[in-house]
Amino acid sequence: MKKIKQCNRSPEMRHYKRIARRLTLAFFATIFVLLSIFILIMLLLERHGISFHSGTFSAFGSISVYIISVVLASAVSYFAVWNIFRPLSDISKGAKKIAHGDYSVRLSYKGRVKELAESVENFNYMAQELSSIEMIRNDFIANVSHEFKTPLSSLNGYLTLLSDDSISESERKEYLSKAFFSIEKLNDLTDNILRLSKLENQVTLDAPVTYRLDEQLREAIVLLEPKWSRKNISFDLEMPEITISGQRSLLFQVWTNIIGNAIKFSDTGGCITVKLERSPHHYKIYVIDEGVGMTDEQQRHIFDKFYQADSSRQSQGNGLGLALCKEIVSRCNGKIYVTSKPGEGSVFLISLKTTKEG
Ligand code: ADP
Repeated sequence: MKKIKQCNRSPEMRHYKRIARRLTLAFFATIFVLLSIFILIMLLLERHGISFHSGTFSAFGSISVYIISVVLASAVSYFAVWNIFRPLSDISKGAKKIAHGDYSVRLSYKGRVKELAESVENFNYMAQELSSIEMIRNDFIANVSHEFKTPLSSLNGYLTLLSDDSISESERKEYLSKAFFSIEKLNDLTDNILRLSKLENQVTLDAPVTYRLDEQLREAIVLLEPKWSRKNISFDLEMPEITISGQRSLLFQVWTNIIGNAIKFSDTGGCITVKLERSPHHYKIYVIDEGVGMTDEQQRHIFDKFYQADSSRQSQGNGLGLALCKEIVSRCNGKIYVTSKPGEGSVFLISLKTTKEG
């Protein structure tokens, strides 16, 4: 019976009861402390031969001490409850709301206790960060679902067409190749998502390997040969011998992505320059194309997951390549920069800190 009664109380009632309990507690605690101090002082004075045990002064003194104690205790308990317990209780209530998925909660504190002001500020910061993480997560899920849906539905379409016995041999070949293209797209997408998530969750990277950076860049260009020869693209290479100690396989993904993009966004017959330089503190790798280029707005977003500026080439990628490159380069203590102009081409610069092997 008692339990049921307690459950029926509103949260506000419980909150005010809790405050009242704390107020009473603080009040009596302060009176106790003040009276103890008073008695201690009296005892000390008595030991030094000063006594107030007789006369009107003693009675007047005791009453004033009681009154002062009560006033001070009231002030202290008011201060404690309204300045300390209430913000703490607000923080606790806010944390509960966040735990239930309401990231919009924000607190305000007008008191002067620095630690509490900081706690409230940090709470609001945490709520803001959690809400943007939640937004990114939701966007990510929506993007992944969308990116999976497109090749899956074309795969479904081509397989339906292939199941028709009346199609010609050339049609069969065409539908098969398109079905394989969709499978390849799905494969690239899952590969990139897995690589990105592995990298984002990996606390320490593998031990660095010592190798020739210029040779690795050449290997990436050779690997992409089917793509550039199909478009009759030529390469201008300026790469002195440079040995580095670094994340070999991760950096290989960066070169294939960035050079692959330069090929993808170049016109037929275009030229791509790959330049390797060494300054006192950095290795600089430039990938320069004369392709479609990008506006300033597009350049601001190209490292965002799933962003694709050029809608006409959306089927050729998934918008994760540069996000992955940025993550890899930053995990290798490097930076990646882009400058571009629509219709004139783009320059990607990757700057890595020099290592003693170089
Ligand atoms: P995608 O798989 O679409 O290539 P990326 O993350 O590699 O994804 O690139 C994101 C977007 O940046 C591309 O869709 C394209 O719009 C733009 N982009 C990247 N590299 C270039 C480039 N060299 N020239 C023009 N646009 C580029």
